[in-house]
Amino acid sequence: MHVPDLIRRKRDGGPLGRDEIAWVVAGVTDGSVPSYQVSALLMAIVWRGMDAQETAWLTEAMVASGRRLDLSRLPGPKVDKHSTGGVGDKTSLVIAPLVAAVGGTVPMMSGRGLGHTGGTLDKLESIPGFRVDLGPDELERVLARVGCAIVGQTADIAPADRALYALRDVTATVESVPLITSSIMSKKIAEGIDALVLDVKAGRGAFMKTREAARGLARALVDAGEAAGIRTEALVTAMDAPLGRAVGNALEVVEACETLKGRGPADLETLCVALAARMLRLVGLAADDGQAERRVREAIGSGEGLERFRRMIEAQGGDASVVDDYRRLPIAEKRYLVTAPRAGTVTRLDAELVGRAAAALGAGRQRVDDRVDPAVGAMLATRLGGEVRAGDPILMLHYQREADLPAALELAARAVEIGDAGAGAVGGGELILETVSGRK
Ligand code: URA
Repeated sequence: MHVPDLIRRKRDGGPLGRDEIAWVVAGVTDGSVPSYQVSALLMAIVWRGMDAQETAWLTEAMVASGRRLDLSRLPGPKVDKHSTGGVGDKTSLVIAPLVAAVGGTVPMMSGRGLGHTGGTLDKLESIPGFRVDLGPDELERVLARVGCAIVGQTADIAPADRALYALRDVTATVESVPLITSSIMSKKIAEGIDALVLDVKAGRGAFMKTREAARGLARALVDAGEAAGIRTEALVTAMDAPLGRAVGNALEVVEACETLKGRGPADLETLCVALAARMLRLVGLAADDGQAERRVREAIGSGEGLERFRRMIEAQGGDASVVDDYRRLPIAEKRYLVTAPRAGTVTRLDAELVGRAAAALGAGRQRVDDRVDPAVGAMLATRLGGEVRAGDPILMLHYQREADLPAALELAARAVEIGDAGAGAVGGGELILETVSGRK
C-alpha cells in the first residue's frame, strides 16, 4: 500500500477501508510506517473525521495490535466502567467493589492523572503496598478471589495506542472524536469484557467543555463498543465543580471509603450508584435501573461493598487496615484554610482550577514521568450553589512545602466566585445530564 495515497484520500475527505486501516495500524505498531507519514494521516483525520464504520475498524485494528484478555474461565459477567476524566472523580474505587458485591466481575484497567485531572492508579498507590502492576495471570487470580481488580495497562494491551498517542501528543492531534474513541475503546475492548458503562464528563473541568461535544463523544464511544460486540452505554455527567469534596490522592481514598460506608457526599454517591446500576443492568444482573440501584444501595448498607474493597486491597498487596484507620494513609504536614471574602452564593467552584491548585501542591503531574505526592490536595468545605457568610470556610489546602502554596492559593482564589445571595450557580444543577444507549 502507498501511504501518501491514503493520506491524500483522507485529506480530501474520502473514507479509508478496513484493510487500509489495519495495514497502517500494524505499520505504526512495528515501526514500518514512518512517524512523519502517520502524523500527516492523523492531522488529516483531525480535519476530515472518520465515520462510525471507519472508527470501528480503527478500534478493531488497535485491539488487534496487542493481546486481548480471555477471562472466560471466570464466573459471572465481565463488566467495566470508564470515565473520560475529571477532578475529584474517585468513582472507580467505589464502583468496582460494589459491582463485584452484586455478582459482576470487574477487570478494571485504569490510568494515571495528567494535568488537572486525577488518575485512579495514583489514588490507589497512596495505600501503602498497593500494587497496580499485576500481570494477566495475577489479575485473573485476584478476579477469581475478589470479583474486582484495578490495575494499570500492561505493555501488550493495544500497543498501537501507545505509539499513536505519543505522536498525537506532540503533533496537536489529540482533539479528534474518532481518535479519542479508538484510543479509549481499544484498551477497554482488550480487557475481554461483556459490557461497558462510560461516564463522559462535560463542563469546566472536563476534556469536553460543552454538553453537545460530550454527547458527540458519548455517541461515538457507544457505537464503537457495540460494533465490537460489547453492550455499551454512556452517561453524560456534569464536571463544572469537583465531584465530592476531596481532590488529591489519599484524601480521595478516604472519601471513597466513606462512600462505601454510606457516609459519602451526596453527588458522589448518586453518581456511583447510577453508574454501578447501569453496569448491573447491562449484564443482566438486574432487570431494570430501579432494581439495580436497590441492589447497589443494599451492598453499601450491608457493608459488602466495603468488604470487597478491603479484600481487593489485600489481594493487590496493600495495607487493608487503611479502610478502618485513615491515619495509615499518607497525611500532609500543613493546612491552609481558604475562606469566603464576602457573603453570598457560591456561583463558581471551578473544577479545572481546583484540580490545578491540587496539582500545584504536588497531587498531579505535568509530565507523564513526574512523581505525585499522595498526601496533598484540597478538601472543599462548601458546594456549588451553597450560601456562605464572609469568613466561612471554602476549602482547605493540604500541603507539605511552603514554596508550593502561593501558586495553589492563586489558583484556588480564581476557582471560587461568590455572587449575591440567591444568585444561583452557573451549571450547578443536574449531575447526570443524559444517557446515550446502543442503537439496537
Ligand atoms: N484518553 C485516552 O485514553 N485517549 C485519548 O485519546 C484521550 C483520552
